[in-house]
Amino acid sequence: MPSRNQGSKLDAMAYIICQIPGIIFFYFRTNKLVRFIILVFLLVFYCEFLHYYFVLLMCKWPTLPHQQAEGTIGGMKSPPLKAMIIADTHILGWREGHWLDRIRREWMMEKSFQASMTIHNPQVVFMLGDLLDEGKWCSSKEFNFHVKRFKKMFKVPSGTDVYTVAGNHDIGFHYMISDYNRRRFDKAFSTSPVQMVHIDGVTFVLLNSMAMEGDGCNLCSQAINDLEDISWELKCAKGISEGKEMPAVCNGFNKFKYSQPILLQHFPMYRPSDANCTVPDAAPLDEKYIPFREKWDCLSQEASKQLFEWINPRLIISGHTHHGCYVLHNEVTPEWTVSSFSWRNKKNPSFLLAVITGKNFEVSQCYLPNEYTIFSLYITGILIILISLLFPRRQPTVIYDEDTKLH
Ligand SMILES: [Zn+2]
Repeated sequence: MPSRNQGSKLDAMAYIICQIPGIIFFYFRTNKLVRFIILVFLLVFYCEFLHYYFVLLMCKWPTLPHQQAEGTIGGMKSPPLKAMIIADTHILGWREGHWLDRIRREWMMEKSFQASMTIHNPQVVFMLGDLLDEGKWCSSKEFNFHVKRFKKMFKVPSGTDVYTVAGNHDIGFHYMISDYNRRRFDKAFSTSPVQMVHIDGVTFVLLNSMAMEGDGCNLCSQAINDLEDISWELKCAKGISEGKEMPAVCNGFNKFKYSQPILLQHFPMYRPSDANCTVPDAAPLDEKYIPFREKWDCLSQEASKQLFEWINPRLIISGHTHHGCYVLHNEVTPEWTVSSFSWRNKKNPSFLLAVITGKNFEVSQCYLPNEYTIFSLYITGILIILISLLFPRRQPTVIYDEDTKLH
């Protein structure tokens, strides 16, 4: 129990604390410099922090129809897997772009990603390549520096898994990939050119698109061998789950419950152009009809056909073009192309949220704050602050009352 002396000290402290808002408000009303500093602080705090949360709060997880909403893990019913998919963050190196551009855009990406981690809390994040802008050129010292920055910006909470695939800016287009560059990327991000992962009963195949050149190089032949193995693993798992008699080759593969896979890669599957993309963040009209070059803007027709045969995906998700797209291949298999996550490449960047069970899925697009909106908020806010400095024109007279004055 506090003594009488302590009690009176506490009362005095409480009294002083209660006076603080009144004092701030008094100076806010009467002192233009104080008012200017407080309003500028509030404007910057809103534009650089709160706005990201307000915009991303509007984005919700998609929902599956009730009868499709449950998956199974080890025979037990489970809620759908919640996955976030981003692409083309292109964090700047030391050659391209202005330092102010780097600071500004990377702050925006970090705030958006971290806001989404807090609000959406996905179980798994897939990053579909071109994480770095100059990974293809930089020295090992520079590479390590940018990887460290990337991992800080895109830090995920414990309990969230991250999977990445390589993009052409991470290791180069096929003609310039060196073993060294590819291996250092794979090591830094714990990935490999072809991976099959099973998460909560959902199967994903992750692919390095540049390994699909089809010229028999070391990287390409290893990838083709791995894809052929995966194709067999999938066939065996499917046959076994359907109770079919399977060939002896199936005994050599890991056993898992078959779920038609989801293919994740940097390049989109072959499409002639973005002409049929109609999502809100699709390419602008002056880019939409430019024909895609196979192996540069999308996979070749041949590689795409092979992937459909080997993997038979139920959904494909890709990046690379920097613009959003939704297309249906052969009128059956949907492909989402994710916009760039960086304001350097897109004024309205977006990412995908997907809820997935072993059989069903639903995907929705989420938009990051629009850079133009933030600029407009700054301009409007500064105008309001300047106008507010005109009032009051005269200092008010302060009247002290004997009963209320401070002791
Ligand atoms: Zn790319």
